[in-house]
Amino acid sequence: MGCPIPHIERQLPLTQFTDLGLDRGLLKALSDEGYTRPTPIQAQAIPPVLEGRDILGIAQTGTGKTAAFALPILHRLAADRRPAPRRGCRVLVLSPTRELATQIGESFKTYGRHLGVSVTVIFGGVKYGGQMRAMAPGVDVLVATPGRLIDHLGEKTVTLQGVETFVLDEADQMLDMGFIVPIRRIVKHLPKARQNLFFSATMPTEIGQLAGELLNPNPVKVSVTPQATTVEKVRQKVIFVEQDRKRALLAELFEARDFRRVIVFTRTKRGADRVAKALEQAGVEAASIHGDKSQGQRERALAAFKAGEVRALVATDIAARGIDIDAVTHVVQYELPNVPESYVHRIGRTARAGADGSAVAFCADDERNLLKDIQKVTRQTIPNEDRRRDPGLSVMTAHMPDGAKEPSAPRGRQGQGGHRKGGSPRNGGGARAADGSSRPEGRSDLPGGLRKQRNRPAASKPGAFASTRPIDQSQFRGPRREGAQAKWSPVD
Ligand code: AMP
Repeated sequence: MGCPIPHIERQLPLTQFTDLGLDRGLLKALSDEGYTRPTPIQAQAIPPVLEGRDILGIAQTGTGKTAAFALPILHRLAADRRPAPRRGCRVLVLSPTRELATQIGESFKTYGRHLGVSVTVIFGGVKYGGQMRAMAPGVDVLVATPGRLIDHLGEKTVTLQGVETFVLDEADQMLDMGFIVPIRRIVKHLPKARQNLFFSATMPTEIGQLAGELLNPNPVKVSVTPQATTVEKVRQKVIFVEQDRKRALLAELFEARDFRRVIVFTRTKRGADRVAKALEQAGVEAASIHGDKSQGQRERALAAFKAGEVRALVATDIAARGIDIDAVTHVVQYELPNVPESYVHRIGRTARAGADGSAVAFCADDERNLLKDIQKVTRQTIPNEDRRRDPGLSVMTAHMPDGAKEPSAPRGRQGQGGHRKGGSPRNGGGARAADGSSRPEGRSDLPGGLRKQRNRPAASKPGAFASTRPIDQSQFRGPRREGAQAKWSPVD
């Protein structure tokens, strides 16, 4: 479990977990964790869920959302003990990624440790046998990613007939990943009479529609922390830099000692591996995590990063949401994401649980339209610094070992903007890489038509940002050395 959320506790001095009528075993587990007061989403959601009401929740990870549904669900399971049907479960939680599914499963186990509740997590990318054996006698709580669950339903190795409570977590990410059709298929296997808990960080129209289909009439609406809050909490900066100098710039950033625990986002899986390798060559311990890594590799990389054994975790967007890693000092966006909302989710990996955090995004010339989209969606102008034609970076690049240089890949594949026009994953493009399959993440997962559309040369004019105002260094609390080789030291 992660660290407590002190700033939230201060906001709700009057409510205690003991006021909510939760099972004593749960209260004991909460006190083991050092949690005494519910977070706002917990204070809002726990009472109606205990009553068996449906919930339509708008909340991001980091708000204590998992416990907001796990605690009352566990209470209800403990209050009404009966065996789950064979191969079935009493509670189904659907989660978009295996990392998040694992985390949710761990939360249920942690909070339910004094209740004798059984919890199983199933996701793709691993063998079926263990999952079938775990499900055979029936379990109280099943946490699953959609793709693998559908496989089990098809093979009849899992049945959903006994589900009393259905939780759909991170619904908007499900939509982005093309999981809406699989979700509708899964829902057909659920009994009609059930409790539904529906959580999403944002509520675009499609998600509102899905909620309308899944929830019983008059759900209780709960909502916390508008998305912008994350953006406001994180010190942000964009650095304009040539694509082939990004590695030198990244190595330079890591010279700052306060770059202690850094997530570096790349757009592609191969890019993640290459950047991790380049960092290692530059003397920075790094691990990469993406959908082509085995579950064991992913878990080891996360564990090494959490333990502080590696300073850099290079990740594709599957790690952008949900993963709860404390004290990430910086987020670096080595490439800008195609979907502007991903920018927000990426930077949300830092400044968690009330802590400080800094985020820096590299922007090559052909990514400028992506930046424009991001600034539009987040309603902000991100402070920037222009490091193009920087002699220091050019010298560093020239001296890098060949393997550490940015391959001179054909560019023009980025920056066309208009990510929602003509077919985004939300329109069924189906960029679903995190369910354990080897589906690619990044450009190559776009449907052919869209790929073609995005392969047009960038529309942005060179130098369009040349006149951007100078970076306000105070934003990053770091000294700015004069001249082209100035170092950026974001946090003292
Ligand atoms: P979540 O939004 O579920 O990802 O939770 C974010 C973090 O807050 C996790 O590390 C939880 O363990 C932690 N947390 C959950 N509930 C509380 C609470 N009532 N007080 C303090 N920390 C909490």
